[in-house]
Amino acid sequence: MKSSTTDTTTLEPSSSVPAVETQEGSLPQASMPAIRTGRPRVVIVGAGFGGLNAARALAKADVDVLLLDHNNYHGFWPLLYQVATAGLEKEAIAYPVRAILRRQSNADFRMAHVESVDLDKRLVLTGTGSQPIPYDYLILAAGSADNYFGNNALARNTLGLKDLSDAETLRNHVLGAFERAAAEPDPETRRSLLTFVIIGGGPTGVEMAGALSELFRHVLRKDYPTLDIGQTSILLLEASDRILAAFPESLQRAAKRKLIRMGVQIKLGMAVESVEDGTVSLKDGSQIHAGTVVWAAGVRSSMLADTLGAEQARNARVKILPTLNLAQHPEVFVVGDMAYLEGYKGKDAYPMVAQVAIQQGKRAARNIISHIAGRSLASFRYFDYGTMATIGRSSAIFDAFGIHLSGRLAWLGWLFIHIIYLIGFRNRVIVLFNWAVNYFTYERGVRLITGGK
Ligand SMILES: Cc1cc2nc3c(=O)[nH]c(=O)nc-3n(C[C@H](O)[C@H](O)[C@H](O)COP(=O)(O)OP(=O)(O)OC[C@H]3O[C@@H](n4cnc5c(N)ncnc54)[C@H](O)[C@@H]3O)c2cc1C
Repeated sequence: MKSSTTDTTTLEPSSSVPAVETQEGSLPQASMPAIRTGRPRVVIVGAGFGGLNAARALAKADVDVLLLDHNNYHGFWPLLYQVATAGLEKEAIAYPVRAILRRQSNADFRMAHVESVDLDKRLVLTGTGSQPIPYDYLILAAGSADNYFGNNALARNTLGLKDLSDAETLRNHVLGAFERAAAEPDPETRRSLLTFVIIGGGPTGVEMAGALSELFRHVLRKDYPTLDIGQTSILLLEASDRILAAFPESLQRAAKRKLIRMGVQIKLGMAVESVEDGTVSLKDGSQIHAGTVVWAAGVRSSMLADTLGAEQARNARVKILPTLNLAQHPEVFVVGDMAYLEGYKGKDAYPMVAQVAIQQGKRAARNIISHIAGRSLASFRYFDYGTMATIGRSSAIFDAFGIHLSGRLAWLGWLFIHIIYLIGFRNRVIVLFNWAVNYFTYERGVRLITGGK
């Protein structure tokens, strides 16, 4: 049963939590909405792929679950680039967390930004004025942030793609560049405005490049008849010698061919040094003048990881045990993009992808249930469903179970899987409808520039 959000409970230690002692003395008499007394309290930070699946996997457990997120929605990031390129409205890829948890009687949600965690006192800190939130078990699933490798100019002068507001900003910026170009008399300035640079040849960069190309060639070409669409350039810059490094070589080649056919200029071995005032400076000394520069070249763990005082590995991800918890604080589990664990394909770190987060979230929840029942914890075992990326409206690459596919069949597989994993019947209908309209008419509905005069 859900307790009232105005309920003030005296926090008692959970009698049913073995081995991990509850720090009775240190817990404040906090106002704890939706937390009942007497049974273990599981606090989950982040309602993304990892956190949400952990919460759902605890549905039948004899625990109280409190899910925290600074947004009130769960975002489906694999389709974010479609919001940024006017293919989908942002409401189609997000769903309110409270609606998702409505039928889960042992769970509640609170919209809060978690600033840090006091691991010794077992408290989650959500900012000035807010009461610390005590926990018996904690699952940290706060995801990732853009990684600029300490280069502040890159952070300031490029556009990222990590959440709904980023996607909307990017869409406004791209459409705004066309508006300005249409009114620009100087051909050089116009050419710069119509130059779009994407830094990073991973899946996000490739998907963005493909989607921008289609938006320009099929839609904006008709919207801006006075502009010469041949003047637009999409440059995909990649520091290494290949795009889509995580995919087999045959699929890398297929993706490259398709992008080139779509007019995307792929520049390999191009490391970016800085971006200032619309000029991208490369390490080889050359420069590109561009009105839009998208950063898709690096991700790191959420900044929350830096506050824990726990050991961090590559990309600032938190080092965890194979049972997904911290060695020094076994009651704390870290999952998804925040977590660093080796063992993928033998010895690599598990990648920052949705399936890893989903499966780790479920495993963390099951380990908490095991711990409460006095059973030993199980190590994380990953079932690899494969990877895929889409290039435009009817082409994708697909690498799963030893099968390498590219083209339309891979794209149909991509469509099917994204619809299955999208949360909410309404969202599935909206996305399918939009895709059908895009596919048959080459139209895109969401070509609005919002939020400024
Ligand atoms: C543009 C883009 C495209 C992608 N495409 C794919 C793809 O095609 N396939 C694939 O498998 N993966 C893809 N990914 C990666 C995938 O989305 C992530 O690996 C996955 O979301 C990780 O799950 P998570 O639970 O760790 O984090 P997330 O799903 O990101 O969830 C983290 C949650 O924590 C919340 N949060 C963060 N910090 C705080 C805080 N301090 N306080 C409170 N709440 C907080 C966030 O609001 C968010 O809801 C993509 C990612 C992006 C950004």
